[in-house]
Amino acid sequence: MAGSFKTEAVVLRSIRYGEADRVLHLYSEDRGRVGAMAKGVRRTRSRMGGRLEPLSRVRLVLREGRGDLCTVTAVDTVNAHPGLRESRAPLERATQACESVLRLLDSGEANPAAYYLLCNQLALLNADPDAATRAQSLAFRTKLLLASGFAPELASCASCGEAEHLAGFSPAAGGVVCGGCESGSFPLGPEAHGFLVEALGRPLSEAPQASEAALGQADRAIGETLEHHAHVRLRRVA
Ligand SMILES: [Zn+2]
Repeated sequence: MAGSFKTEAVVLRSIRYGEADRVLHLYSEDRGRVGAMAKGVRRTRSRMGGRLEPLSRVRLVLREGRGDLCTVTAVDTVNAHPGLRESRAPLERATQACESVLRLLDSGEANPAAYYLLCNQLALLNADPDAATRAQSLAFRTKLLLASGFAPELASCASCGEAEHLAGFSPAAGGVVCGGCESGSFPLGPEAHGFLVEALGRPLSEAPQASEAALGQADRAIGETLEHHAHVRLRRVA
């Protein structure tokens, strides 16, 4: 028997379906990824439609169907994040954050750490357009790696445990490597290394800064870690 359940979720993506419907990709607090059909929401008189825009955080009642998709039967807004639509940078960074979650977390398993990280990122960009920087987006992605179980080893050589002379990053080894273990690695300078360590240790609102060159190295380390261990390819954070 199909039942109904309540959940809270962020609308990651919304795709037109048929004449008046939408298929929603949701990331929920207690069920991970959920796919849902929102019926009739593209009709002008639909009150539900406006609440189900991408980047919105909502409380939903969903009815389980026979297939993979649930049906939305009720929706309330927790935070519509209107500030994200007022300028380009916050909108792009917020969309990028949702895209990362969409690609990286595709199971129906709850991951509250990842859910609240995404909620915090959207709320931060909504409240403070100046937070929409490359460094801040990379800090979010680094924290998302940790929340999804793919955090790289940063404290000592990922191959031999040596704590000194760390010179490179090896996606295959899963972290920083020393001079003796550097085959298959690329250079990761002290600034990029420090950026990754601080990004993990600080709250999102206090994301560290770094030079463009260091951010490029950090981005590569994050991206190649995901490609190697999660088999997910994310667009680089430009
Ligand atoms: Zn080593």
